[in-house]
Parts: sequence; structure tokens; C-alpha cells
Amino acid sequence: MEATEDPADTGKMPVLFIGHGSPMNMVLSNRFTMSLADLEPALPRPNAIMVISAHWLTHGTFVTCAEQPRMIYDFYGFPRDLYKVKYECTGAPGYANRTVEVGNGGGAIRCNNTRGLDHASYSILRHMFPAADIPVFEMSLDYSFNDWHPKAVQYHYGLGKRLGSLRRNGVLIIGSGNMVHNLDLIDFSDMDAEPYEWAVEMDAKMRLHLIAGEHKQLIDYLSMGDGSSLAIPTLDHYLPMIYALALQVKGEGIRFIHEGFQNGSISMRSFRIG
Ligand code: ZN
Repeated sequence: MEATEDPADTGKMPVLFIGHGSPMNMVLSNRFTMSLADLEPALPRPNAIMVISAHWLTHGTFVTCAEQPRMIYDFYGFPRDLYKVKYECTGAPGYANRTVEVGNGGGAIRCNNTRGLDHASYSILRHMFPAADIPVFEMSLDYSFNDWHPKAVQYHYGLGKRLGSLRRNGVLIIGSGNMVHNLDLIDFSDMDAEPYEWAVEMDAKMRLHLIAGEHKQLIDYLSMGDGSSLAIPTLDHYLPMIYALALQVKGEGIRFIHEGFQNGSISMRSFRIG
């Protein structure tokens, strides 16, 4: 890809995709969480953060418009400490409403005034921005499509493309999911379990497509071969990555923030665009 000069793009915020993995990461210090802690000094200071959450599946697309988002502990059977975690940021109703406006192709995005933040947000943000002094809102994933349907991915990619101007408003957009994520085959007993061969293979394929800017192959994920149905058994954790891709414009490279696996069946690959 050739670098292009677009004066309107001056001051554009980068876009991140973070593979968040197990909720345990929120209270741990490991190679993954340390890579998150390195991010803030390397980023321009955002006016607001929008997290596109693998853990908020809705009919239609919503953004959180609450002034003060509450904590949603949407994980079960984990140590008590995790349910005491607080991330006391404010909401960003102004930027959330701006998202409703720019995404609006026939009411595509709507406000939810009561919902708080789930662990796709705070489990990573408490490492990335520990002071919690930047307003945060979330965007949901429209899950009204038949799951396991490449056309659904194309829809999300198209919606993502409409959100590009938020970057010039100082909004740091973070897709929070996992590129390879198979919950049925997870090794709960060992975060450092040896990854499955198919997981390694699919992660490597996706890496190459990302480097080459080959969005089409990542949208048509079933075309990536046999391992794709194991790596992406449902779309929830994959789609936040698709939004990050959709926001990549010509000339913007990709940098990997973190590579690796957790619990055998989860790729923690995370990247930065711009
Ligand atoms: Zn998750």
C-alpha cells in the first residue's frame, strides 16, 4: 500500500484491536497485560474511547449513552477479586450521540441510556488507561443475523466504514474480542496451555492477511480453510476485529501490539492501525 496524504486526516486517532482473552487478565500481570500498559504513552491522548464489545450482542446496534456507566460483571465462576474490580470512568454521551449520527443509515445505531460497561472494556482499559480519566462508551454488535454467515460480516464491515470520522473527533476506537476464540475447546485449568495446531495455523493465516491488507479474505472467513470453523465457531469475538479493519484507510499500516495464545484455543493477537 502506498502512503497517501490526506489533509483532512491530520490528527486522526489510531484504531486498536485488542484480543482480551480470559477475564483473569484483569487482575494479572503477564506479557499480554504489560503490552497493554505500554500503549498509553505511545498514543495521542483521546477525547473519548469507544469499545466495540464482543460481550454486548443486540438486535440492532446500540451505543451506551449513560453519563456514568455502571460495572457489568458478565463472567461467572471466577475468583472473588474479579467482582471487586472497579473502573470509574465517566461515560461520553456526546460522542456516543455523534456515533449515532455518523453511523446513521436508516437508524443503524441507537442510544442505550442505562447500560454500563462489560469486561470487554474494563478488563483491558484498567491496564491501558489505569487513571480512568478518559470518558468511555461502548458499541454493541448487531447479532440479529443468522450466526455463522459471511454476509453478516460484510454488514458489520460496511457499518464500521461509516464510523471513520470519529477518529478525527479524537475518539479512540477499540475492537475488543479475539481473532481465534473457541470456548468449547478452552483449557480453563491452564492459561499457558500449548495452543492447538489449528489455532496456531489460523492465527498465522490471519496475520498474513492483516499484513497484506487483504480484508476480503478476512471478511470471507470460511475461505481461510478447514480451521476457520474451529477458530471462529461464532462471530461474537471475531466481529470487533472486522470493525477495526473497516477503519483502516489506504496507506495505513498495521502494527502488532501483542502475539500469543491463552488457554489453548484463544489467540491474543492485538494490533494497532495508524
Ligand atoms: Zn471475551
